[in-house]
Amino acid sequence: MVHEPLPYNDYGVAMRRRFAGRVQKLLIDAALSCPNRDGRVARGGCTFCLNEAFSPAYCRESRSIAEQIDRGVAFHAARGRMADSYIAYFQAGTNTNAEIDVLERLYLEALYHPKVSGIIIGTRPDCISSEILDLLSDLAICHYVAVEYGIESTSDVTLAHVNRGHNFDDARRAVQLTRERGIDVGAHFILGLPGESREMLLEQMAAINALGLSSIKFHQLQIYRSTPMAAEWAEQPQKFLLNSYSAEDYVSLIVDLVRRLSPNVAIERFASQAPHNMLLCSPLGGVSLDRLKMMIIEVMRRGGYVQGDMLLGV
Ligand code: SF4
Repeated sequence: MVHEPLPYNDYGVAMRRRFAGRVQKLLIDAALSCPNRDGRVARGGCTFCLNEAFSPAYCRESRSIAEQIDRGVAFHAARGRMADSYIAYFQAGTNTNAEIDVLERLYLEALYHPKVSGIIIGTRPDCISSEILDLLSDLAICHYVAVEYGIESTSDVTLAHVNRGHNFDDARRAVQLTRERGIDVGAHFILGLPGESREMLLEQMAAINALGLSSIKFHQLQIYRSTPMAAEWAEQPQKFLLNSYSAEDYVSLIVDLVRRLSPNVAIERFASQAPHNMLLCSPLGGVSLDRLKMMIIEVMRRGGYVQGDMLLGV
């Protein structure tokens, strides 16, 4: 059966090509704190953050890295997701926020696991140093190593408003320094942060393209219960773009963003889904992530659109 090519650069396809087979990420919680909570940058954290939302049950922080990997492999196998290669994805918290010898021990524990082919390190753009990049470069000689930065927005006004504790220049610098070491760089962006309009989101694609990312994740803003953002949402819902969005509106936004994104950037996510009981509300009409992806593909194919056909700023 001949499959019609996807109208965008799909991260899963790119990883299958790189690893010559099916690749499965295993989420790791290394129990590292966040500098935006522990006082190194600020206290209180980002106004949208609920850290528990990031980790599935198989990686409770009290378990060793090796145990989390074993449980992760079993978790996916039980759901029929067998893989040829596994990547340990240090996701929860800020995974460069420790002394260098601690980081080296954690990363090596993952890389020494016989099933693991590489690591992805999730962190903040203001929590990277030449010492850490030296370590990652050394590890990358024999393993796949990538860094994933939470950038969230290109607007310094928005970043300050949500108490990120860094600005977009920090992100530019971190991405550039990491790329200079030949390490793949991914980034997250949140769509619908307070005060950001559809036009702003489209305009920021020029700055995103200029970063030279390997991969990108788009997340719709999810409002977690008991966060400062939940209170802001309750008081001023009109500041939140997605407040009035249907799934179709979100699909239309994503299609317009993808058309403005460099085709060199592999897209890993169009949206995410936290457990419903953690969320104050669930915009996008409760449409599943798979359905949302199919809707995006359908709209792009129907319109004859492909990633980057309205490219800005490369
Ligand atoms: S989103 Fe990331 S940087 Fe912000 S408080 Fe949560 S863990 Fe820290």
